[in-house]
Amino acid sequence: MELESRVEWKEPQPAYIASPGSILHVDREFYSAILNAPRNLKSEVIIPPRSAKAFNVPATHIVRFSTPSGPQVGDLNIWNAQNPRERFWASRTRQLQASHVTIYDRLWSCLPYLRPMVTIIGDSLSDFGVSRWGGRCHDLLGTRCDPYVNKLLTGDDYDFHCHSNLVRSVIPFGLLESDIHDVLNIFQVTGLNGQGKYFMEASPAKPGDFIEFFAEQDLLMALSTCPGGDLSRWGWGEGSAEGGEGGKSMLDCCREIKVEIFEIDERARDILKDWKEAKRPEYTGMHGMKVPEGETIA
Ligand SMILES: [Zn+2]
Repeated sequence: MELESRVEWKEPQPAYIASPGSILHVDREFYSAILNAPRNLKSEVIIPPRSAKAFNVPATHIVRFSTPSGPQVGDLNIWNAQNPRERFWASRTRQLQASHVTIYDRLWSCLPYLRPMVTIIGDSLSDFGVSRWGGRCHDLLGTRCDPYVNKLLTGDDYDFHCHSNLVRSVIPFGLLESDIHDVLNIFQVTGLNGQGKYFMEASPAKPGDFIEFFAEQDLLMALSTCPGGDLSRWGWGEGSAEGGEGGKSMLDCCREIKVEIFEIDERARDILKDWKEAKRPEYTGMHGMKVPEGETIA
């Protein structure tokens, strides 16, 4: 496989390139060994339509999200389990990886941590490619739906947007509304149109489609099953009362998402012998500040 840095670009070169030896250059052999290693199911969570759940994923475990009944988009938040100030940073991830993520991409944490939280090791939709409108799958362009923008745009109140679902899910873990952050929209196809406007297309997920992450640190994750369901009938507000075309309402487009957490089987633990949790960058400056400890006494 040709390294990105040796590619002759026929378009503007990416701003961030995974040069050999860089932390951006993923060891594909290692992650494909993780993917293929025997594993044991440790826990399983079903997230019903229009709700959210939070759950811990220990470092080196694998978390698998799947759509057992068909298309449904999910809004994902991630924190370090011990330190929720370290959380997923969607916009830097978009720059370091891409606007839409797939196998071997990583999700990065915010400053001053800036280290991988997870690496994607499996994606049954990795060959989705680009839709006729330029849409791609597993979206980092957008964010979660929320009741404030809903009120702003429609004047309506609705309490089960992804933002609200995520808020309720993390309260038992001691987190607050202010801990909810920009998401990765799994199973969601989006893009920018010719005018640079954000658009969404119906989710292509079929029963059994999945995406899998390797946990690079001890994590708390929360996932909301979007009230827009598979986004085939997306509109603002509740949208479930009146039947649309063919009597189908937005609620009919809503399904569960299954979460499974696996541990690599003991027989294959050797794979992990050289794995280490990434350290944060060793910047020790103070942003140019010199802060005195106290009074200078001559
Ligand atoms: Zn949503």
